[in-house]
Amino acid sequence: YLQGKYALITGSTSGIGLAIAKSLAVKGCNVILNGFGSEEEIDKIKETIQSDYDVTVHYCYCDLAKAEDIDNLVQEVFSLCPTLDILVNNAGFQKSAEIEDLTIENWQKNIDVMLTAPFKLIKAFLPKMRDEEFGRIINVSSILGSLGSTGEAAYCSVKHGIIGLTKAVALEVAEANITCNVICPGAVKTPLFMTYIKVMSETSGIREKKILHEAMDKFPSKDWVPVESVCFFS
Ligand code: NAD
Repeated sequence: YLQGKYALITGSTSGIGLAIAKSLAVKGCNVILNGFGSEEEIDKIKETIQSDYDVTVHYCYCDLAKAEDIDNLVQEVFSLCPTLDILVNNAGFQKSAEIEDLTIENWQKNIDVMLTAPFKLIKAFLPKMRDEEFGRIINVSSILGSLGSTGEAAYCSVKHGIIGLTKAVALEVAEANITCNVICPGAVKTPLFMTYIKVMSETSGIREKKILHEAMDKFPSKDWVPVESVCFFS
């Protein structure tokens, strides 16, 4: 049922978002990529997906922390496809700081990128989804969407928040053949997680390997979640 449909995946130049984009493309879904990266890197990603899966691949630049960029992204997406069938709110970052050191700028950026941007994108694309009587919205939270963690007050707050947003939207669209779901991954080996381990090591003076081992020990599988496992469409 994904053949010929259009999906926007935020933060799809790397990690989980890129894997999700590929898992959609393999089913014949056209993908609109977003996220940071050099022109070269992004062109390479586009070409690879296009040639591997024979779908249309677009890239839209948008810094989701910027309101004006989000408005432009919405316009650009509508110019690429009349209706967006699938919206994946995945983009994110993790900048740890204990509460006394958590700056208002860091806090605000967490809210802007991982809570306000998903809200704005849902609000922008939902009316056309209702008209088409089809829509799939997937938000990416985290295990920290239901747990607390030291140094993660901002991240935990937005990841809890996006679960609430998902539940509320899901109820509002329940009769319109639109679904709104959230996924809450554990530790997935992506640049985001590896940077987190590196920063933890630098600030604590504990070796990266030990931090990684302790982090893994908290998970029932004692291992990474493979990035492909987070791809709900596969
Ligand atoms: P990643 O660093 O590999 O990818 C993050 C993507 O988001 C990149 O494409 C990046 O360019 C983009 N991005 C960041 N800030 C942006 C902004 N302001 N505007 C537009 N794009 C922006 O990280 P990942 O691990 O793939 O993370 C993806 C999502 O999964 C995030 O929401 C993260 O919180 C969540 N998550 C990750 C893990 C994990 O262990 N890796 C666990 C749970 C949840």
